[in-house]
Amino acid sequence: MVSRVIPVDVFDLVIFGGTGDLARRKVLPGLYRRFLAGQMPEDSRIIGAARGELTDAEWRAQVAGAIAEFVPKEKQDKTAIAGFLERLTYVPIDARGTTGWERLKELMRENVVRAFYFSVAPGLFGDIAQRLSDHGIADAWSRIVVEKPFGRDLTSARALNEVLARHFTEAQIYRIDHYLGKETVQNLMAVRFANILFEPLWKAEYIDHVQITVAETVGVDGRGAYYDKSGAMRDMVQNHLMQLLCLIAMEPPWHFDPDAVRDEKLKVIRALKPVLAQDIVRGQYAAGGGEPGYAEHAENSASRTESYVALKVAISNWRWQGVPFYLRTGKRLRARASEIAVTFKQPPHAIFDDAKGWHENVLVIRLQPDEGMHLWVMIKEPGPGGMRLMQVPLDMSFADALAEVSEDVPDAYERLIMDVIRGNQTLFMRGDEVEAAWAWTDPIIEGWESRDDRPQLYDPGSSGPEDALMLMHRDGRRWREIR
Ligand code: NAP
Repeated sequence: MVSRVIPVDVFDLVIFGGTGDLARRKVLPGLYRRFLAGQMPEDSRIIGAARGELTDAEWRAQVAGAIAEFVPKEKQDKTAIAGFLERLTYVPIDARGTTGWERLKELMRENVVRAFYFSVAPGLFGDIAQRLSDHGIADAWSRIVVEKPFGRDLTSARALNEVLARHFTEAQIYRIDHYLGKETVQNLMAVRFANILFEPLWKAEYIDHVQITVAETVGVDGRGAYYDKSGAMRDMVQNHLMQLLCLIAMEPPWHFDPDAVRDEKLKVIRALKPVLAQDIVRGQYAAGGGEPGYAEHAENSASRTESYVALKVAISNWRWQGVPFYLRTGKRLRARASEIAVTFKQPPHAIFDDAKGWHENVLVIRLQPDEGMHLWVMIKEPGPGGMRLMQVPLDMSFADALAEVSEDVPDAYERLIMDVIRGNQTLFMRGDEVEAAWAWTDPIIEGWESRDDRPQLYDPGSSGPEDALMLMHRDGRRWREIR
């Protein structure tokens, strides 16, 4: 298999917050990798902007440090790094002041794609949008990229949408959810909509339930103060898990086109039923393994914020009538694992008298680590001894199947930034999607706040609170092991 890297158009990309953590860890190393792969045209430029009074040379040195730290050694090519650093310019700018804007305007070139990455606190999005517009820096072809969190409830998300809409059209706004940039997530759409195999079975008649798990081993250490105002529901469910749920549950769009895909996702969010209190479990990790617990990390001994949440969700439409979607996400769990598991129903009539008694097909879509898909099927246990059945995976690990191209497979941030330059919004959230997601999430969070709900403690390194196991057990189902 041959890698096909198609260079994008020449661009000027301004990274507001170019000295920040996200820019250092993801955005700039990602851009370097695209440069190395030949996807970033030679005469494209990246302009870093933040308040710090740095020279070009000082910023380039910082970026060189970020590449050394966050790009695998085998990808650190001296000549390529030098070539990449030459494309970098730095402008001291205050998002809330007057410094730097005229200089930025002078730097922007005509007739190249202009993209502005808002890698700063969301409180600055409006200020930057306003100044880009006031100084005539953004034109009708410019794109802006905004980071999560996009609001903390429906009201704030609406306000943010309104601020951005004063200066940019919806077609210019790219709201990042990096989960959508993952190879497997896009493969999920390919598997569903480019194969006849699954679609006839993709409905309540044949699917028993769906599990979506995003488990982390890390705690909130170091960003506890921020996280304590958010929690797993706002930080993970409203965006990442909701997006995964949409991709599983949506109807086939008429075309693989940004608005066609996003229209279908929006319909799923709007069809979500309100969640009953008994169908939600919240948790907070306790101290253990020599590490402090959540409350200490958050520096708030009275914290009621959840570091874990599990929910049973229902979609009210024909396709999914009666099919529960079980969602869970948490920190300090036993393994770092993100996966979607679609469990099919049992065959209607059992002809084999094997002791197991269950004949289950499960399609597992693994997002991280070890991206890939596995379809668990029943086969005959090899050897003599009669007709005993066993479950085995049909394996499609992308690392193996795509070994020759995987060298150049971009990570989520790389792919999404290149999509911004290409002007393709398919993998970005539309304003109405974000608002619909908050409209569903808000009453859940308000319910907790009004009841002063206290999350259940769970042991670090475990699978989460006991009650989360019960959420499945009482339906006669069980969570897949987190591994
Ligand atoms: P950060 O490390 O605190 O960096 C913030 C950046 O913004 C710095 O470059 C800072 O530089 C600049 N800045 C602050 N105030 C400014 C102002 N008034 N004018 C111009 N620049 C200003 O934050 P981060 O972690 O990179 O996060 C950036 C955004 O990405 C946030 O919205 C965050 O929620 C989101 N995000 C981050 C991550 C992550 O892994 N870090 C993941 C997902 C989403 P100066 O102080 O020199 O101005």
